[in-house]
Amino acid sequence: MKAIVADYALDVERIKKNVAVLIEEDKIAGIVPREKLNEFDVDETFGGSGYLLMPGLVNAHTHVAMNKFRGFGDDMPLDRWLKEVIWPMEKEWTEEEIYKWALIGIAEAVANGSTVINDHYFFAWKIAEAAEKLGVRAFIGQTMMDLVEMPIAEPELGFKFFKRWKKSTLVKATLAPHATDTVSRDLLAEVKEVAERENALVHMHVSQSREEVLRVKKREKMLPVEYLKELEMLGKNFIGVHGVYLSKDEVKIYAESDAALVHCPTSLAKLEGEIAPIIDLWELGGRIALGNDCAVSNNSLDMILEMKFAAILNKVKRKDPQSQLRRKYFTGQPLEGLKHWD
Ligand SMILES: [Zn+2]
Repeated sequence: MKAIVADYALDVERIKKNVAVLIEEDKIAGIVPREKLNEFDVDETFGGSGYLLMPGLVNAHTHVAMNKFRGFGDDMPLDRWLKEVIWPMEKEWTEEEIYKWALIGIAEAVANGSTVINDHYFFAWKIAEAAEKLGVRAFIGQTMMDLVEMPIAEPELGFKFFKRWKKSTLVKATLAPHATDTVSRDLLAEVKEVAERENALVHMHVSQSREEVLRVKKREKMLPVEYLKELEMLGKNFIGVHGVYLSKDEVKIYAESDAALVHCPTSLAKLEGEIAPIIDLWELGGRIALGNDCAVSNNSLDMILEMKFAAILNKVKRKDPQSQLRRKYFTGQPLEGLKHWD
């Protein structure tokens, strides 16, 4: 039997002092006071004084391979940053490069406390291989776009990836249309149909730039969340990301829909100078989770730092130092936000 020893153990509800977690094979066999450890047959001990033991963090929105571009296009607005800097570089990706940078990105996420990632990117099968190699639980979707010229984001690749990886143990394949402005109605209908048939998660950027909102408004004569509602995309298997420009009505629709919204405060503060109305959604009972986005827009994959920025930036959003996301948000609630994930 093995044991992990720590000065403090944090679970969703409370902090315990001086604990030892007993591990048999790969399962937790018990949690006992540290001073009683010698009553058990323990042959290897980890941790010790100065350690805090806590559940692994769920990094609910990543593009791990983008670690390659850290620092590129700093200080540009999102729409220009994507079109002028990121997409041209992404057209040059090879499978080998993606695999290598996915290993590096996942390693950074794990080193900062994440044990689960939810990734959205190209050559998703190479990211899945990297996650398996490192033994990390990962939800992975192949980015699909049909309104932007990007051969590595051909929708067919996304469905093929989903089919091939849906039964893997560590990796759970998702369907990953890019965003409300870069994907057509027809493609979203197809995604919805497959998601319903296969009980799959749909992972998608929603209302992440001013231009996205304007394009959807012009094309569909409605706002992004109204559009998703009309398409009946919103539901317990829908993981939207960002929601920076949600109107009051959209927040209400979202909260009532049972869809989850991933908050990436650092990334969108940097790229749009904006903060999503996440507390409004939270107060209406919406499901929320936290993510780093990517090392280019963040510029790290550090969820502890993300929690700090989430707390601080939301005070700025409300112009109220007393405004706070309750402690549970940081411990149990992100998991609650993903409660339909098995
Ligand atoms: Zn993203």
